[in-house]
Amino acid sequence: MALEPIVGLHHVTAYASDPQRNLDFYTEVLGLRFVKRTVNFDDPGTYHFYFGDDAGSPGTIITFFPWPHAARGIAGAGETTHTAFSVATTSLAYWHERLTRAGVLVEETGARFEEQVLTFADPDGMKLEIAGHEEAGAALRSRFADVPAEHALRGFFGVTLLERDLRATEATLRMMGWTRLAEAGNRVRFVAPEGDAPGRRIDVVVDPSCGFGRAGAGTVHHIAFRTQSDTTQLAWRHEIEQHLQVTTVQDRTYFHSIYFREPGGVLFEMATDPPGFALDEPIESLGEELKIPEWLEPRRAMIERRLASITLHKEKVNA
Ligand code: ZN
Repeated sequence: MALEPIVGLHHVTAYASDPQRNLDFYTEVLGLRFVKRTVNFDDPGTYHFYFGDDAGSPGTIITFFPWPHAARGIAGAGETTHTAFSVATTSLAYWHERLTRAGVLVEETGARFEEQVLTFADPDGMKLEIAGHEEAGAALRSRFADVPAEHALRGFFGVTLLERDLRATEATLRMMGWTRLAEAGNRVRFVAPEGDAPGRRIDVVVDPSCGFGRAGAGTVHHIAFRTQSDTTQLAWRHEIEQHLQVTTVQDRTYFHSIYFREPGGVLFEMATDPPGFALDEPIESLGEELKIPEWLEPRRAMIERRLASITLHKEKVNA
């Protein structure tokens, strides 16, 4: 069977510190919906937050492990240093103004390949970009943000990896079917083989003398690519294990995952599109209740006592 193409990113997962501050920034400032409030399955005393579009669509999902009082990390070689969201070029002025009004320092990074870029950081220092471009796709109305539909974030544009050496990382991306599209200075862009899904670009910035980072708040733990089904995931798993060490399939409730580290050090995941975030609560009330997997339910009371209490935001009426 031919391998199904990997059309783009599924989600990006990072560390944060204060849960409320993380929630406030991604919902109230960036206008994303809080689509799932759960715990880190490997460490159930800590939260796992998911933000995305109203439906929690693959390619729009940014997730965090917020640890109160976590020290800041340092981004270095072998890590995802920038996560970019997609907007129409005509929305850049809106976002510059909105972020500035929220007290966020915005740098006009300017033209890069096909896009115009604004660079800023979240409250934990995680580097984010808003990339304005001509193929940003249809306006995305959100019931949960006061961002006008035409300016709403359209999911991921792509991510930037920092690497000491290009070759082995390039070989991995090629093995996954991605192709080298362009380069400028020490930045090389790879794109998904087909389609117009969100998150179809990976930039690799090469700096042979770059130091290694340190995990902590504001650093990215892993990036996840999409697979359409369990069957296609297993086919990809078989392909990947010819080249790299890859985990067995892990049940992440809302998707099924395999993980492998590309040779430069970035942790890659492949996550299935189904079953999705409406698995255990109605789409209308995503994110409102703490959801934990069945096997943790007997410990729910203890888990809830250990988690910081948070205040959710009210639904906006965004006509
Ligand atoms: Zn993940």
